Amino acid sequence: MALIVQKFGGTSVATPEKIQAAARKAIRTQQEGNQVVVVVSAMGHETDHLIDLARKLNEQPPAREMDMLLSTGEQVSVALMAMAIHSFGHQAVSLTGAQMGIRTDSSYTKARIKTISTDRIRKHLDAGKIVIAAGFQGVDDEFNITTLGRGGSDTTAVALAAVLGADACEIYTDVDGVYTTDPRLLPEARQMGLISYDEMLELASLGASVMHNRSIEFAKKFDVPIRVRSSFSDAPGSMIVSMPESPSVAVCGAALTRDEARLTIKNVQDTPGMSYEIFKRLADRKITVDMIVQNIGMESRADVSFTVPSDELREAQKAVQEALPLVGATEVTCDDAVAKVSVVGLGMAEQTGVAEKMFSALANAGINIQMITTSEIKISCLVQRSEGTQALRAVHQAFELHKKPTDANTWLIGQMEHTKMSPSEVVERLRSTNLEQLTLLDISLLDDQARVTLSGVADNPGLAEQIFQAVAEAGAVVDMIVQSCDGHHGQTAISFTVPSEQRQACLGVLSQGKFGVRKVTSDGDISKLSVSGIGLRSHTSVAIALFKALADEGINVLMTNTSELRVNVVVAGKDSKRALEALKKTFKGALI
Ligand code: ASP
Ligand code: MG
Repeated sequence: MALIVQKFGGTSVATPEKIQAAARKAIRTQQEGNQVVVVVSAMGHETDHLIDLARKLNEQPPAREMDMLLSTGEQVSVALMAMAIHSFGHQAVSLTGAQMGIRTDSSYTKARIKTISTDRIRKHLDAGKIVIAAGFQGVDDEFNITTLGRGGSDTTAVALAAVLGADACEIYTDVDGVYTTDPRLLPEARQMGLISYDEMLELASLGASVMHNRSIEFAKKFDVPIRVRSSFSDAPGSMIVSMPESPSVAVCGAALTRDEARLTIKNVQDTPGMSYEIFKRLADRKITVDMIVQNIGMESRADVSFTVPSDELREAQKAVQEALPLVGATEVTCDDAVAKVSVVGLGMAEQTGVAEKMFSALANAGINIQMITTSEIKISCLVQRSEGTQALRAVHQAFELHKKPTDANTWLIGQMEHTKMSPSEVVERLRSTNLEQLTLLDISLLDDQARVTLSGVADNPGLAEQIFQAVAEAGAVVDMIVQSCDGHHGQTAISFTVPSEQRQACLGVLSQGKFGVRKVTSDGDISKLSVSGIGLRSHTSVAIALFKALADEGINVLMTNTSELRVNVVVAGKDSKRALEALKKTFKGALI
């Protein structure tokens, strides 16, 4: 008998009628001969209401009590859903996180699942009941109630699907599936038939809020195919699986992250250990740092810029103030009116000219790029927040995301069997790791690279486009691009890496005082080290551990960029072997 996990989000259980509709879907699935586990979220905006209520009594409610409060939202929905199913003459049983045996760590409001015991659920399923599981919650070793972070019911659903070896995990929501960008922002957004885990992870981490990103980490780790579909229709929705929609397209989606704030620490001493000093303090405060950009500075000084969610800016400033004297810096600038526009696609790892195309789309729209960071499958540009939507539209158009690729893959039900891990493999995997423990896939070294830095550049729209067009015409294939932000002086620095043998060609087109560049410097012998894995952004500890490992070895980090799937650092060629060894040693236990 097949087992199907169905998850209904808040809007899908917002009213008694909607709960009945969801109950009917579950019953129908059971009648088709399946065992069914239904995961539900709190009704409608209940979680928001509870948060408001808490704030009326306490500006900063204790996190433990917050979880005690928020978990009640899901407890209401599971009971009502079970009642609805009973009223239709079918058997159902509701279970809280604790009753299901979802064990988490004790980080209230953002707990991580450690183990799930399936006995209780199985017993009920075998007795012919539909199991109604409360999403978003668990319990720590002391039986304190914990929650998994906003949107955490998705994670509950995928985690249950993984441990139960489910045949499908269906996420019912108020949208028809996964779109090329948020259709509320751009009506021309297109629904995709399927998208790969990696692309979805990058998009989710950018705030494309179709699903909680930790749920996709899970899905990727345990190879759970997910179908995102509407609760209000029978449309097939979008599959999230291991392959991309089209084998030939470079970019599959675009996203706008509106509430970002930027901090720049100027003139950081360019010696080993500086990044570690800074980011350790942010991690200690559990601030999610994004878009870390370290650029080559002048006179042994580097500028380190990064973004944080706007509402964490104050905490971040405090952390940075603490670090300032330790890194020899005196000045921090910040900007709370920025937004990040990004494009994502597995295909860009194999194609050239993708970054250039994005820069030219923004240039043509007259939008200034304040900061750039690229990774293997993502390019992000920081722009003024008021121009955010316009920037998103320009990029979406340039990559023709509204058009369905002509060679689009379709997902056949039968395919699921081939990619799904067998239940015994899952059990084995679970035994050997904690569920949400960090999984690293690879540590690699790219040798024989060169770095080119343009500094003292006037920060105007079109700059990045001109530079990378010139570089492309010179025949160079650019890998990492980093543009840092120079707070208030209206100037910026752009660094990029290319294979060593292409350095001269780049210098040939760039050092002619073109584009208002004041100074061009380069280094013909650098190496890029990458640590890749799953969920590196939510596991900030990876970047920190990496900085620490290099600092302990006395190795200086020249450039950095990060994404959901990778942390890249550039070091001098002479340090590369030692750096690789240090990283291998540090991450030995986490590699799979
Ligand atoms: N009710 C929780 C929230 O709103 C969990 C969820 O809906 O997934 O964040
Ligand atoms: Mg600019």
